[in-house]
Amino acid sequence: MGSAPLLSDTMATMTAPQIAQAAERGVGVLLPIGVMEAHGPHLPTGTDAMLATQLCQSIRGYATRELIVAPPYYWGINGILGRFAGSFNIRAETAEMLLTDVIDSLVANGFSEVLLVSHHGDMAHNQMLLKVVRAQQAQGRSGVRWLYAPARWKMIERLGLSAHDPVWVRWMPTPALDAFKLTGILGVHADEFETAGIVRYFPDTVDYDALRGLPPTRLTVADLIEWRTGDAAARKLTPDGYFGDPNPIDPDLWRHFDEQARIMAAALCQDQTQE
Ligand SMILES: [Zn+2]
Repeated sequence: MGSAPLLSDTMATMTAPQIAQAAERGVGVLLPIGVMEAHGPHLPTGTDAMLATQLCQSIRGYATRELIVAPPYYWGINGILGRFAGSFNIRAETAEMLLTDVIDSLVANGFSEVLLVSHHGDMAHNQMLLKVVRAQQAQGRSGVRWLYAPARWKMIERLGLSAHDPVWVRWMPTPALDAFKLTGILGVHADEFETAGIVRYFPDTVDYDALRGLPPTRLTVADLIEWRTGDAAARKLTPDGYFGDPNPIDPDLWRHFDEQARIMAAALCQDQTQE
C-alpha cells in the first residue's frame, strides 16, 4: 500500500484566511477530477485522481500567474469498469450534483475562475462534466471552464465539441506530445501512459511484481468501441482491468503529462493577456 497525498499543496492545507486572501487577489483555481476505479493488477485504483492532481500541481508550477489547486473531486462515473473489484460506482445524478456543489462552493468563496482538469475517459462521466460546465456558464459564470481532457482520447471530438467552444480553455497539441517511443499497442486504460505517469509521480503505489511481464492486450479499434458499451464487454475483453500495454518502452513517457501541463499553463497565461 503506497502513499499518494492527494490533499497536500491544495486548498485543503491552506487556512480559511489564506483562501479568502487568494480569492481577493483574483487567483484562479485548478480543480482536479478523477475517479476511483480498477486499473489492472499493477496500478492503484486512484490513478485518475492522482494524475489529475499531479497535472494541476505541474500546471500551477509552470504558470506565470498565481493559481491554487482545489482538493480533488474523485467520485465520478465508471460505466465500463464500475463493477470491477476496487471501483466505486457513482450514479450520474450524484456525480453531477456533487460536482455542482463543489464548483458553487468555490464561486461562493469568491473564485470566479474555476478550471476543470479531468483525467478519465468514460463517456458518461465526460458528458456529466460538460453538462455541469454548461449549466455554470448559463448562470453567467464564464470563468468556469474545462482545461484538460487527454488529447489522445479525442474527448473534444467524442463530445461533439469544437475546439472553439467556450466550455474549453483552448490549447493546441505540440509536436513534443508525440515525441515519445510507443509500443504500438492500442491502449486507453492502465496502459503505458498511465503506468509511466504513476511510476514517475507516485512510485510507491505501483505493484512492480504484478507489472513485470504483464502482457499487452491485443485489442483493436472495433474492440475499443465494444469495450465502451460497458460492464459485460469490459469483462470479456479486459478481464484483468487494463486495455493496452502496461509496460512503457520509453523511460521518458511520463513527460507526456509534463508537456501537457506546460502547454496548458501557457494557454492559461496567454488567455489572460488577451482579455
Ligand atoms: Zn485511468
